[in-house]
Amino acid sequence: MEKKPFVSLEQVKEMVKEYPTPFHLYDEKGIRENARRLKDAFSWNKGFKEYFAVKATPNPFILQILKEEGIGSDCSSYTELQMSEAVGFKGSDIMFSSNVTPREDFELAAKLGAIINFDDITHIDYFEKIAKIPETICCRYNPGGDFQIHNQIMDTPQDAKYGLTLAQMKEGFLKLKEKGAKHFGIHAFLASNTVTEAYYPLLAKILFQTAVELKRETGVHIAFINLSGGVGIPYTPDQEPNDIYAIGEGVRKAYEEVLVPEGMDDVAIFTELGRYMLAPYGCLISQAIHEKHIYKEYIGLDACAANLMRPAMYGSYHHITVLGKENESCDQMYDVTGGLCENNDKFAIDRMLPKIDIGDYVVIHDTGAHGFAMGYNYNGKLRSAEILLQEDGSTKLIRRAETPADYFATFDFSGMFQDVK
Ligand SMILES: *Cc1c(COP(=O)(O)O)cnc(C)c1O
Repeated sequence: MEKKPFVSLEQVKEMVKEYPTPFHLYDEKGIRENARRLKDAFSWNKGFKEYFAVKATPNPFILQILKEEGIGSDCSSYTELQMSEAVGFKGSDIMFSSNVTPREDFELAAKLGAIINFDDITHIDYFEKIAKIPETICCRYNPGGDFQIHNQIMDTPQDAKYGLTLAQMKEGFLKLKEKGAKHFGIHAFLASNTVTEAYYPLLAKILFQTAVELKRETGVHIAFINLSGGVGIPYTPDQEPNDIYAIGEGVRKAYEEVLVPEGMDDVAIFTELGRYMLAPYGCLISQAIHEKHIYKEYIGLDACAANLMRPAMYGSYHHITVLGKENESCDQMYDVTGGLCENNDKFAIDRMLPKIDIGDYVVIHDTGAHGFAMGYNYNGKLRSAEILLQEDGSTKLIRRAETPADYFATFDFSGMFQDVK
C-alpha cells in the first residue's frame, strides 16, 4: 500500500514559520477515529476498555484526547502515574503494569486506586507492606516456551523477564484471595508489533483457557482478561494493515468458545495498546541540511537518532516521504542520516528516494508511538518539540523544544551555566 503523510508541503511550510524543524507532529483526527474503531470492534464485550500504554507517547495532551474517547491509561512508572493523575485519570481508569517496581511507585499507584498488575509472585508480600491488597487485582502470566502462530515463532516467552509461571499464578491467586482480593484479572504480553490478525485471538484463547483453569482450581472470580499491547502497524509499504474488526471478531469467537460455556460471560476484555493507538498518527518532520558524496550518497537531516531511536536501536524501517516530491520517481539511492557521532545514526540505508535537495522537508512516518518517547540527549542533542495538528487544521504546541538551558538544568550545584539560555 502506498504510504501517504497526513500533512502536505504547504502545511509544513506554514508550520515552520512558527516552529523550527525537527519536530514530531500528531494527527488528532486520525487518533480519534482510530480510537473509535477499536472501541467499536470490541463493543460486543460489555466491559471492554483500552488502557493506553503511556510509555508509547507520554504527552498529557495526547492522553487528554484519548481520555475524551473513553480510554484509560496504562502506567509502569512513578512519573507516568503522575502524568495520568494530572490529566484526570482516576482509580480504575489507570492500569499499573510495572516490573522491578520501586516501593514508591506501588505507593502512588495504591494511593490513586489504580488496578495493580503484579509482575512477580514476591510482589504480593512486598505490596502488602506498602498498602492493603485491593479487592480488584491482576497478575501477569508468562506461559514459557515459544509463542507460535501458524508454526511461526513470534516470540520466546521462556526468555522474557515478565510474569508469573502457571504454578505461581495458582499460588498467587490463592494467596491474594486469602488476603481479601475478590476480582481477578489475567494479563499477558507475548509478542510485539504483530502485523497479523491472528495474534490477539490466539493470545485471548490461551488466556481464556488459563482463566477457566484458574477459576476451577482456585475458585476465584475472574473479572477481566488484559490482552495488553502488541497489535502492530505496517511500517513498510508492502505490509497489510491489521483489520481491527477482524481482530475483535476473532477474540469474540474465542470468548464464545471458551468462556461462555463455563458461565464466564461477565469477563471484561482489557487492552493496553500503545503502538496501534498512536504510531501511524505521528511523524517526524525534518529538513535536509547536508549532502555528501563519498563511497555512498548521504543526505543529512536536522533530526537524528536522539529524536527517533528505533532505526538505530532495532534496525527498524520507517518510511520516508520527501514533501512536494511525492510523485517524482524514486531513482536515487541514499543513506539518510542524522548528525550523531555514531554510524548507526541512519534513518534509512540504501533507500530509493527522489532526488533530495538541501532545504527539502522530509516526513519520517509512523513515529507517533515509541518515537519521541525513546528520545535521549546523546552528543548534547536536544529533544524536539511536539506539535498537534488539530481537527480544524490548526496547530498547537503540545511540548516545546528543549533549549541548552534545559540541557544544563541539572547542573544546579554551580553557577557555571547561569547565563545559558
Ligand atoms: C509496552 C507495553 C505496552 C504497549 O505495547 P505496544 O507494542 O506499544 O502496543 C502495553 N503493556 C505493557 C505492559 C507494555 O510494557
